Amino acid sequence: MNINRQVDEEKAGALMRRYWLHEKWVQQECPIEAAPSEDDAIGWYGWLMEQEPEAYTLFRIALGEYLCETQGFGAMLSDVKRLFSDCDRMYPQEMMHFWSHYEDPPLEFNAQWRNIWPISTRMAFEPTDLFWYQEKYEVDLFLVVLAQLRSIRLGSGWDEYLCNLRDSRGKLKKGVAVDFVLGGLGGYAGLHRDLEIAYDPRLRNTIGHNMYTVVDNTLKSLDGEIEVSVLEFVDACLALQNVQNSILWMLSRKQIDLRPLVGCGVVTTMLLGDGDRVPVSLQLAPFFEIDSEAAWLDQVCVAWDDGDDTFVLQLPHTSGYGAAISQPLAADLLTACGTRVAWSLLPVMPCIHHGHKSIETPWGPVCVQGGAVVKEVELI
Ligand SMILES: [Zn+2]
Repeated sequence: MNINRQVDEEKAGALMRRYWLHEKWVQQECPIEAAPSEDDAIGWYGWLMEQEPEAYTLFRIALGEYLCETQGFGAMLSDVKRLFSDCDRMYPQEMMHFWSHYEDPPLEFNAQWRNIWPISTRMAFEPTDLFWYQEKYEVDLFLVVLAQLRSIRLGSGWDEYLCNLRDSRGKLKKGVAVDFVLGGLGGYAGLHRDLEIAYDPRLRNTIGHNMYTVVDNTLKSLDGEIEVSVLEFVDACLALQNVQNSILWMLSRKQIDLRPLVGCGVVTTMLLGDGDRVPVSLQLAPFFEIDSEAAWLDQVCVAWDDGDDTFVLQLPHTSGYGAAISQPLAADLLTACGTRVAWSLLPVMPCIHHGHKSIETPWGPVCVQGGAVVKEVELI
């Protein structure tokens, strides 16, 4: 997806703020009284929830990834995806153990899972920010997953306990784990780079042992070993958050049964083009990607509704949400195409850019993310 085009900081920031408000609410286990207000809510969520609860879950993950990419973590994110898919492809037996291990996470895992969402809009050197970095750094889950994938990827097999990376009491030695992961994932340059930025053991130890002073917006360790500017600290926090989230998203995606979601998330249908106007449906990109051939379109039908003088496209998840096309245009279509109509499907995401044309929808403007799939659809 070509989404690094001229991101509008203001638009992206506004969407990010709402995204995090929602995540924080989920982290609190969705108390009704604390639900985001209508202005703060992400309209897509409720709409998708009505189609399929898992459609909401998939889109929540995909939106997180989309925003992660806009922050400059696209290379890391695609490396994380590539690492998982390389392992799945090359070592399916080993990955079966991996996936069954993460299918039903134990209690501690669940607790850590929930703890990883604190919002960091603007980090500085406040004690809470420093503690945030240390606390995130300490969450084992991500280093464990990466170390296990590293073992599998390099042909050393599935290693549930990673004894070599633990001390005599079984505690994960984070510095050793980071070195182990970095030592084996050089082929994933984007991930490698952001891991190095995210996991700085000297920074973590300086904070953890309260061995620092902050002078002129620079953190200095008392032993004179390190000096970290606010900008460098913010980079480390952002990298840590995005690396960890990327792994969490991969683990969460795997739990979603994609089959019922084929054909979900079709936002609207319209006629596009200057001369021969063609019907085009817009589908949210994460659902478009499930079935890039759009085989499901073979099963939809386009029916003429005499009452409304419109064509109605019957989609699997949109009963009652037919896309209406006005009669004169439909008549043009009929004479031009007979009973079969070329129908285009385009992937879209909420628009967070400037300088290009977006399309208005009831849940906010969207823009096209990739090429169309064109299908011949029967008119009945
Ligand atoms: Zn856009």
